[in-house]
Amino acid sequence: MCGIVGYTGYRDAFPVVVKGLKRLEYRGYDSAGIALHNQSLHVYKKMGKVADLEEHVVGKNISGKTGIGHTRWATHGEPSDRNAHPHLSASGKLAMIHNGIIENYNQLKQELLQKGYQFKSDTDTEVLLNFIDEIKENNHCSLEEAVRIALKRVTGAYVILLVEQDAPDTILAARKGSPLVIGVGKGEHFLGSDASPMLEYTKEVVYVNDYELAIIRPDELILKNLGNEVLTPYVQKLDIELAAIEKGGYDHFMLKEIFEQPQTIYDCLRGRLDAHKNKITLSGIEQYAKEICNANRIIMVACGTSWHAGLTAEYIFEECCRINVEVEYASEFRYRNPVIHPGDVIIAISQSGETADTLVAIENAKAKGAIILGVVNVVGSSIARISHAGAYTHAGPEIGVASTKAFTAQLAVLSMIALKIAQLKGTMPAERISALLSELEEIPGKVQQILSDTTGIESIAKKYATARDFLYLGRGYNFPVALEGALKLKEISYIHAEGYPAAEMKHGPIALVDDQLPVVFVATRDSYHEKVISNMQEIKARKGKVIAVVSEGDETAINLSESVMTVPVCDEMLAPLLTVVPLQLLAYYIGIARDCDVDKPRNLAKSVTVE
Ligand code: GLU
Repeated sequence: MCGIVGYTGYRDAFPVVVKGLKRLEYRGYDSAGIALHNQSLHVYKKMGKVADLEEHVVGKNISGKTGIGHTRWATHGEPSDRNAHPHLSASGKLAMIHNGIIENYNQLKQELLQKGYQFKSDTDTEVLLNFIDEIKENNHCSLEEAVRIALKRVTGAYVILLVEQDAPDTILAARKGSPLVIGVGKGEHFLGSDASPMLEYTKEVVYVNDYELAIIRPDELILKNLGNEVLTPYVQKLDIELAAIEKGGYDHFMLKEIFEQPQTIYDCLRGRLDAHKNKITLSGIEQYAKEICNANRIIMVACGTSWHAGLTAEYIFEECCRINVEVEYASEFRYRNPVIHPGDVIIAISQSGETADTLVAIENAKAKGAIILGVVNVVGSSIARISHAGAYTHAGPEIGVASTKAFTAQLAVLSMIALKIAQLKGTMPAERISALLSELEEIPGKVQQILSDTTGIESIAKKYATARDFLYLGRGYNFPVALEGALKLKEISYIHAEGYPAAEMKHGPIALVDDQLPVVFVATRDSYHEKVISNMQEIKARKGKVIAVVSEGDETAINLSESVMTVPVCDEMLAPLLTVVPLQLLAYYIGIARDCDVDKPRNLAKSVTVE
């Protein structure tokens, strides 16, 4: 969730690390800090943004060719200068940054307290650091050896980077459960939570696996496992361009990413969908075609927006493939001792591919014999590597904390998987599949149509920006869209919003309706349309303010609504790919009208790498 950056080489480390931290700021953070090796260790840290850290170091010695930097998302101890990373060990000889949680920190802390250690922060990180320090001092061993011994005692998730007083150009890194990428340059090495901090220097990267430890010097990269065996690093070439992680003229990443959707959906379909030939090519999935076709059930495992993509996919898969689908929150699923039979198929959905709960959920399911398919955006990420097979969403880096283009790309991939299985199983008439494939091909153009004029949505946003609560309602394929619309609004504008199946509102939420409450209906023309129209009448009769996403030309829905956002006519199964777009924009413009930091909403982190 936080960001880590490391550099050792011939450049000044400070600007490289700080720029890298800014690239990672989107991940969510509350403080920032840096440790530089310049004859001795210099640590600077500050609560707030990376810019506050820059201000803090003005006039201070920031030279040094080796450095590690951190943006923190507090788990243990409030956000404060004192709790910010890096931490210095009691001996003063080690500086460390950490992403994750040391679950047994309290036990380790008690042991250290008994040995006379004192702590300057409330973090679990400082405990692990001093635990390492103590092992090193006591055993007179190398830092590497001490880290190995220490990590065998640790439970939890971590990426740690350490620099040592006595090793001016060396960074030691280790991971379990949190992401770590090494950038390989000429005479220099980089470290990051993802590849964005190193993109302008190198495209050659190594993804570090769990229980691995890396020793990095300008000209050397040594990778080992915790058993001290040397491993051969697998160097991969990135195909992300720098422009993909910059704003490119937009005010916010979120807006840029919403507007990228015609292209990202197109990229996701490209080379996979050929409607003309009625063909879908998904090589990863095809490898497991037999197992998927024979599966008694498919379980979608995800969190947040990805969970909404999973819920939409439940409707699609059940209709297309006639396979029972369950949709699970990864955090619940992993702890519930779920019943998993060998041969069950799990589809793990995650933008980052690093979502901690999803990762562990699929590890557990894999151990019980399930087949794991990953629907992931970040190439080479942990979920992608653990899955048996999968399909990347190819949406490009998503920086805005509120997911937009990753969601529609997930829907596009999941729709293709469902249609592919339907073809293989023969569970849907060929003409219907063919019509859906053509429809899918037209989605990028239709999304473009929605985006070609957003002024209407902007004025709706201004009109309702001061509302205290919102209700979002939809049925069938549009029910998960209602949930997603409400989530976007909460995330971006801090307005309380709830999503409900439209029919369910009579069982509770309708009590909230009065002349102050905006109720957003996702009401495109589909098999539920008449029912939704009745639900709109019911809200109107109680003086609720009806805002609706409607199909072009649907006069009935338009006449019932105080404000409308239109989308092109589309097959109901693929309608969520369109109906979510106005809701993303509505949340964005309301956030702007309320002066919110839409790219970095408070308390949120982009990729949730802690449980
Ligand atoms: N658990 C550590 C802390 O609270 C690290 C949190 C993070 O990942 O930023 O300081």
